[in-house]
Amino acid sequence: MELFERFEEKGHEQVLFCSNKESGLRAIIAIHDTTLGPAVGGARMWNYQTVDEALKDVLRLSRTMTYKASVAGLNFGGGKAVIIGDSSKQKNELLFRTFGKYVDGLAGRYITAEDVGTDVRDMEYVRMETKYVTGISKALGGSGDPSPVTAYGVYVGMKAAAKERWGNDSLRGRKIAIQGAGQVARYLCEHLYSEGAELYIADIRDSQVKRVLETVKAHVVDPNEIYDQKVDIFSPNALGGILNNKTIEKLNCEIVAGGANNQLESENVHGQALLEKNILYIPDYVINAGGLINVANELEGYRQDRAMKQAEAIYEVVRNIIKVSLEQKLPTHAASNKIAEERLINIGKLRNIYSGSSYYSGRLGELARK
Ligand code: NAD
Repeated sequence: MELFERFEEKGHEQVLFCSNKESGLRAIIAIHDTTLGPAVGGARMWNYQTVDEALKDVLRLSRTMTYKASVAGLNFGGGKAVIIGDSSKQKNELLFRTFGKYVDGLAGRYITAEDVGTDVRDMEYVRMETKYVTGISKALGGSGDPSPVTAYGVYVGMKAAAKERWGNDSLRGRKIAIQGAGQVARYLCEHLYSEGAELYIADIRDSQVKRVLETVKAHVVDPNEIYDQKVDIFSPNALGGILNNKTIEKLNCEIVAGGANNQLESENVHGQALLEKNILYIPDYVINAGGLINVANELEGYRQDRAMKQAEAIYEVVRNIIKVSLEQKLPTHAASNKIAEERLINIGKLRNIYSGSSYYSGRLGELARK
């Protein structure tokens, strides 16, 4: 019963193990909650050393997607897939088409997309077997790279945090340290630079920093020293788990706001540690929801201007989270979890009205009917 208990602990609705000898596919698809709509979340390809490691990751990531969609006001549930394997060696057409068949078998309860280790090309193979996939190229009617929309959401979320902390949302003259100079950071830096912010940037790859410096001016910082910069805002845009005992001690800023996923090494411990240090932390899944907003747009016929407009709403979402956190004396991550859960419970009540609708057939809906 141990497995079922693990699924029940965080409320997962369905976990599908996909195994196919011919293609070598070993994958797990986790559907966390479909109260708000079909579960959406990327397919991550990673060389997990054990099945348990892969399962742990997919359970954690799919749950975050439920919260992300809920807080962003989207009508999607949370899901995620992990494909076990080395993405630099084991990718091929058969593997992704086989994965596509499993996705198709879920008949729309789960919609996949690219993620770490998978790309637009892989999703095009998945598309050959199922329509329940997003993140395909613009040429094929998809939305292409989500980073511009994600970066814009991070930018407006940062401004909302500034408004709270300094009474004014202008970032002109603010010192901002950016960790990572990848896709999200690159577009984020352009917004910040045009507003007149002073940027400090670090990446483990010089080529990435160089690319950013083609369009903006910034101080280049050693990646090991980015936490120690005396700045107004620290913006993580590279890896997860970077807010931990060691780094929080070093931070010399008033706000943490960036696009990276899973920034807090331990949600409760480090969310609280930032609060105690009087650093305003903007929860990652709230501020980086632009990626999901982009995907949601693709499902309705993609238009980047509409996606950008929707990402702008992150400003008000962040303001509201800060308000709830102050009123209820909660760290911001706990306030946003609470807001997400309340929406799930409320919308779950719709099941009383249209209980036959399979679109709204989530677990919380079931609970609300009881
Ligand atoms: P990316 O791969 O383009 O950029 C990541 C950058 O971080 C790379 O340039 C890499 O060299 C650098 N990096 C890695 N380790 C580092 C370290 N220790 N110090 C400094 N730099 C380091 O990825 P991206 O698409 O820009 O995404 C960045 C983060 O945002 C990821 O955590 C991703 O999961 C998250 N995110 C991205 C999107 C999106 O639309 N791309 C949406 C939501 C969340």
